[in-house]
Formats: sequence, C-alpha cells, structure tokens
Amino acid sequence: MQDTYKHKGQRKKLTQELKKQGIEDKKVLAAILEIPRHFFLDIGFDKMAYHNKAFPIGAGQTISQPYTVAFQTQVLNINKGDKVLEIGTGSGYQTAVLIKLGARVYTIERQKELFINTQSFLSSLNYEAKFFYGDGYKGKSTYGPYDKIIVTAGAPYIPQALKDQLKVGGVMVIPVGDSEEQIMYSIIRTSKTEYKETKLGSFMFVPMLEGKQNTFKQ
Ligand code: SAH
Repeated sequence: MQDTYKHKGQRKKLTQELKKQGIEDKKVLAAILEIPRHFFLDIGFDKMAYHNKAFPIGAGQTISQPYTVAFQTQVLNINKGDKVLEIGTGSGYQTAVLIKLGARVYTIERQKELFINTQSFLSSLNYEAKFFYGDGYKGKSTYGPYDKIIVTAGAPYIPQALKDQLKVGGVMVIPVGDSEEQIMYSIIRTSKTEYKETKLGSFMFVPMLEGKQNTFKQ
C-alpha cells in the first residue's frame, strides 16, 4: 500500500473538518494528519478512507469515525509516556493515534481474528503496543493501574474493574448506553474512592460484548 500526495491532501482536508467540528488539540490533529487511515481499511475503501465516517473492518466490527477517534483522544489529553489501556483494538487505528502521541498502549480485543490480524499489521508499521486477546470488561490488572483508559465499544454500564484499574488523577473515556445510542463519559478518579463523571454528548459505537469470541466470521 502506498501513501500518496492525494491521500495526504485528503487527510489535510479531514483535519480541517475536524477542527470545524470542535477538535482543538493540535497534537491530536497532527497525529491524524500523519497516520495513513487507508492502510487500516480494505482496499475497496481506499477512495473513502478520509471521509469522516465509520467503515466495516471485518468480523462484524467497524473502524470508528475520525471525529470520534479525535474526540476520545482529546478527552484523554495524552502526555508522553502515559500508560493507556484500550478496550476494543479493532482495526488498530485508535491504537496508532495513541502511540503517535507517545502513549504506552495496552490494548484488548475479544475477536480472535481482529486480535491476530491487527497485531501483525501494527507491528509491520512499527507501531509498538501490548496486545491481548480477552474480555475488556475485566481490564488487565497485571499491567495496571493506568493513567488513561479508553473504551471504543458501546458499554451498557461502566465496568467496575476498569474504574479500579485507573490511577488516582487518571482519566477514562467511555461511551455508555444501549445499542442505539451511547453517551460519552469522561471519568476522572479524584481519590481512591471518588470519581468525577462528566457527560460529553451522544455517539454511536458497536456494542461492548461480554466474553471472548473465538470463531472467525465475516
Ligand atoms: N478502536 C477501534 C474500534 C473498533 S470497534 C478502531 O478504531 O478500529 C470496537 C471493537 O471493540 C471491536 O473490534 C469489538 O470486537 C471490540 N470489543 C467489543 N466488546 C469487547 C470486549 N468486551 N473486550 C474487548 N474488545 C471488545
């Protein structure tokens, strides 16, 4: 796959669009300008890769809309070296954005097919992260606590394990709701026992499902 001037031009346009939609964080915009999103999609989507839309990535899942990726990343306010737990590796695009911002990323995917494909794909592009096949509801306590946690699937509730694995002073961004619509929450752990929740508007994600999925299906 090639990253052409045309692709770069399309990315420039996309970042301008995101700016108009309210994304202000220059580092987030710079990461989106730099990362070739079309690499993360099937060749058939090449022409549309920089439309501000979600697309199918196989196994019945989607790559999040660029606006959503930018929005969630902006909420996290990533500092270099932050330890970040990501639930829902999917295509790996969000993972790549976090890595570009200097995060140390621990990412969990419940679909075996995506876990395997995305891990080798990101490694081939030299994006280093720790990949886990498992159920994101449980988080990954062995590597915690985390400075930041990002959930990229619609959760019916806020999993307690994820709250427990957030550092005091840390931030979690998670869409909470039913399969139709979710409300984005920013959750700041203000002390060992206290959390501050803020609602940040409505979004639409594929659902966060319990358990692991081992069968390969399209
Ligand atoms: N960040 C991804 C979004 C993918 S869509 C991207 O930009 O491509 C959401 C992903 O979450 C899907 O790949 C889905 O399989 C995964 N997922 C859903 N429930 C999960 C769970 N309980 N644990 C881990 N991953 C989960």
